[in-house]
Amino acid sequence: MLKLPRQPKKAGSRILDAAASPTRMQILLLLNSKGNLSYSDIMGLLGLNPSRDAGKFAYHLRSVLRAGLIDADRDTRKYKLTDLGKLVVNFYQDVEEYSLRRTGKLLVRSSRLAIEEFNRGKIAQALIREAGAPTELAQRIAQEAERKLLNLQVKYLTAPLIREFVNAILIEKGLEEYRHRLTRIGLPVYDVGQLIKSPGMQASNSDSIHIRAGDSVMEEYVLINVLPREIADAHLSGSIHIANTGNWILKPDKVFHDIRFFLANGLRTSAVSGVGATLGPPKSLAGALFVLTNMVRAASNEISQDQGLDYFNIFLAPYAKGMTSEEIHKHVRTFMLGLNQPVSGERCAEVSIGIELEVPDHLANVSAVCPDRKMASPYRDFKLESILLAEAILDCMVEDDESKPMFNPQIILKVRRNIDGDDVVRGLAEKAHDLASKYGLPYFANMTEDWQRKATYLGDGGRLGDDWTGDWELDTMRVSPINNIAINLPRLAYECKGDDDRFLEALDERLEMAYRALELKYRAIEERMRQGFLPTLSTLSSGEPYLRIQNSLRTVSLTGLNEAVMAHTNNSIHESKDAMKFGLKVATHVASSAQKNSEKPAVRIAAAQVSDMDSVRTMAELDVERYGWSNARAQGPRADPYYTDLVATPFETEISWQRRVQIEGSFQRLALGGHLSVLQLHDGDVNPNVLTSASKEILEQGLGLYTFTRNVSFCSECRSVFSGLKRKCPGCGSSATLTHFVRLTAKYQPLRWWEDVDRELVSRRQSYDFEVK
Ligand SMILES: [Zn+2]
Repeated sequence: MLKLPRQPKKAGSRILDAAASPTRMQILLLLNSKGNLSYSDIMGLLGLNPSRDAGKFAYHLRSVLRAGLIDADRDTRKYKLTDLGKLVVNFYQDVEEYSLRRTGKLLVRSSRLAIEEFNRGKIAQALIREAGAPTELAQRIAQEAERKLLNLQVKYLTAPLIREFVNAILIEKGLEEYRHRLTRIGLPVYDVGQLIKSPGMQASNSDSIHIRAGDSVMEEYVLINVLPREIADAHLSGSIHIANTGNWILKPDKVFHDIRFFLANGLRTSAVSGVGATLGPPKSLAGALFVLTNMVRAASNEISQDQGLDYFNIFLAPYAKGMTSEEIHKHVRTFMLGLNQPVSGERCAEVSIGIELEVPDHLANVSAVCPDRKMASPYRDFKLESILLAEAILDCMVEDDESKPMFNPQIILKVRRNIDGDDVVRGLAEKAHDLASKYGLPYFANMTEDWQRKATYLGDGGRLGDDWTGDWELDTMRVSPINNIAINLPRLAYECKGDDDRFLEALDERLEMAYRALELKYRAIEERMRQGFLPTLSTLSSGEPYLRIQNSLRTVSLTGLNEAVMAHTNNSIHESKDAMKFGLKVATHVASSAQKNSEKPAVRIAAAQVSDMDSVRTMAELDVERYGWSNARAQGPRADPYYTDLVATPFETEISWQRRVQIEGSFQRLALGGHLSVLQLHDGDVNPNVLTSASKEILEQGLGLYTFTRNVSFCSECRSVFSGLKRKCPGCGSSATLTHFVRLTAKYQPLRWWEDVDRELVSRRQSYDFEVK
């Protein structure tokens, strides 16, 4: 017998030796699939006994360490796979796959990118656990799925593919109920790719892509699992539109704060969530503004849209006692610039600040929350400070500080008397109109009428009045407009062909669905508060949570009222008396239905005219598809149709501003859950005094909330703002440095976020110079 000379082992065989034990290979596979693990992690996952098997385990671990297949991290004391180890694992898996394939077995690529053998039992398990199917049925379906899958000529099965097969079998057998529960939610691979490549109109950074991907999963969950089928179908088919489905069961939409709560208590969110510092009751203006900045930031994670800080200059006035206007200005400016910074992902915390031109009657005798108890006196005693604060805020908005106009916070100027009333009111009103003539920024709330005196507003038009318990504090402070559902009014008109009664009957059906959906939302948010998921809103004071959840407002909005009237009467609202009459009939019907379906203590519903770009576009697109371009009365180009929301008369309609204001006024008093009239300024110079005169006329018409708006171009190079949508910067001639800002609906948006079609729409708007001819 020939004896081979003994040779030193080659590196390759030494390494294969090291891996050639089931335990050692298991260690490598574990580190491959689970990442870095500690000594005890690995023992645990291998199912070894720490005392009995310790010696054996240490031996195996040493072998793979010595062969350089794994490595120990000194700092974390965890083991990790080396590049060599990864090579061995890949080789092992290839061999495994090759041999399994030769035996004709089905292979599944599981989610951790490992390959495993097909296991029929897993299908049966999922059917029992997730869909609640009886065991015998589950096993029969699993067998059938296996038979079908075996006939496939695919290289790898994946878990989603298997699920699709099982779902198809369930549908074939008429077992739709089980299929429904077995639905897998998530985004198609293509959609995720698109989200990253062209994140669309509002995404501005990586976080926003993350948020959107999460939103769409939550949205699907809500549509499949939370809402009754007929309501989900109504939403998907465009009969109604549920705003913010991604946050439907997680957060309320908006909140109206009572800043006195945080002035008196400080910010104690961390006591609930364990995150962030606890801030005590502030002792100075700077301290008070610091508490509010942090409160707004914390709360922005617990709501999906806007936050209102009403009576801002009244409630902060005691904190400005004895300060010069320069000092006040400095602190206010820091506060406002802070609010203008993004908080998370894509947006600023959207904040509306209510400014009073004088101390309102209902606050005059209320004793003020003060930095020092010895100061305690009613709010009427801090009149001077409240005016200085209002001035500081308006001045900060108009300052040329080498930045673009301040679009957040939104300033809502509350007018309680004739703006010529006295020198102080006139001075503040002039400042505000000066700002309006430059950038169109502030909102004007008309508090002169009885139904308005104790109302509060947000910059998106959201409104609360003291019409629920009758106590303005309970009704308008620490209260959330919890969600809006838009009703597709034009579709009702297409379906009812001119018959008023049928129209209202069908409208009632849609409203009833909206109310049921809003009830589910309310219950979900109540539950989230109990769970402690909304720590700022649930902060306790005297045993009562901060948010008065039982007073939350649910709104239903009149989407496409103008187009519904056109389809029903053949005229636009402004074109004939009959059209106007029908429009008011519909709005009145929705308002009184909301009132009838409200039920104390907790079911508070109101009609609203608010804006939701998503809903107006989706509804119009689906209707054009369903009824044809010539039958549907959509606005905009055929490729990108939309309905009118927020206002009764479309921006493009050629009517005088006086007539526009008059029409809007009639509808606003029916939409008490929210409204806003937007008046477009022309691109030329606008005289602020002319705007002040226009305001006087508008206030007499009884409009609740309005704003002037103008299109502006901002050059980031010159750091200047120009009116109109400029193609090139008039300063430096560059076009790449220009951003256009327009108020597409309730708020300003940079146009680069949107398609060109929006630029086109904005330029077709009817604009006004407000000069008296
Ligand atoms: Zn420039």
